[in-house]
Amino acid sequence: MRLSCLLPCLLGATVIPRVAGLTVLCLALQAGAAEEPPLAALRNDSARFVAANAEFTLLHETGHLLIAELDLPVLGREEDAADQLGFISLFLAYARQNDDGIYAKLLDVADYWRLEWQRPKPENEEVHAWDSHGLDAQRFYNLACLIYGSDPDGLEWVPQITGLPVERALYCDQEYNQVRKALAWVEQQYGRAPGSAQRHRLRVIYDPPSTRLSDGPRLLEQLRGSGVVEAIAARVSETYRLPRELTLRLSNCGAADAWYSRTAGEVVLCYESLAHFESLARQLPRLRLATPD
Ligand SMILES: [Zn+2]
Repeated sequence: MRLSCLLPCLLGATVIPRVAGLTVLCLALQAGAAEEPPLAALRNDSARFVAANAEFTLLHETGHLLIAELDLPVLGREEDAADQLGFISLFLAYARQNDDGIYAKLLDVADYWRLEWQRPKPENEEVHAWDSHGLDAQRFYNLACLIYGSDPDGLEWVPQITGLPVERALYCDQEYNQVRKALAWVEQQYGRAPGSAQRHRLRVIYDPPSTRLSDGPRLLEQLRGSGVVEAIAARVSETYRLPRELTLRLSNCGAADAWYSRTAGEVVLCYESLAHFESLARQLPRLRLATPD
C-alpha cells in the first residue's frame, strides 16, 4: 500500500469497507498522479477496433451458446453473464498470446459501448426499461471495471481515461475475480478431459457478402485475415464437451446485428456489424483526445 495515500483516504472516505479495498480506493483517488497509459492504448486504429469488437461480439454470442448447449446455471441476467463470458474469454485469449496491444483492444471493446451510449438514437431505437440487455452506459462501465479489476496496481490509468468512478473502481478486483472463478468452474464442470476424443465441434462458415454492402468484401477479407473467428471456434471445440455440431456464421442480415439461435445451433455475426463498428471507430478521437495519433 502506498503510505502517502493512506491519510487522505482515511480523511476523505466516510466508509472504509476493508483494508484490501482501501488500496484500490487510494490508487483510484490518486488517478491524477497515476502512471501514464501505454500510447498504444490511446492511439486510434480503426482496423483494430473492428477486429476487437467483432471478436468480443462473437464471444458474447458464444457465451449464449455455451449457456444453452451446456445448460449452464445462470444467476442474474443472461445478457450480463454473456458479456462477462465474452470479456474473460477475450482477456485470456490476448493474455495467452502475450499480446502487447491487450489493453488497447479491451478498451476498444469498452469504448464501443461508450460510443453507442453517446450516439444520438433515432426513434426506432428507443431504449426500453424492460429490455433484457443492460443499458449501453452500464455495459461500458461493466467492461471498464473488469479491465481495471484485472490488475488494479498496474492499471491505475484506466479509471482516469474511462471516467470509472472511485465508488465502482473500489470493487473491480472482486468483480474480475468472480468472473475468472466462474469461467474456471465452467471449464472444470463441462470441459473435455485431456486426451479425450472430440465428438463435436464448432465450425466456421462465411456466407458470401452481399453486393449491396459496398465494403463487405474488404471487411470480410480483413476479418478472415485476422484468424480470430477460427481461433474462437478451435478454442471452444478443444475446451468443452459440446453436445452437437455447432456453427459460427458470418452472414448478411440487412442490419447490424448478432445472435445465437438455439434452433439452428449457430452464432451469427452480420457483415453489417463490421461496417457499423468501422463507422463508430471514426468517433474514437473524441474519446481519446490526449492521443498523439
Ligand atoms: Zn446477448
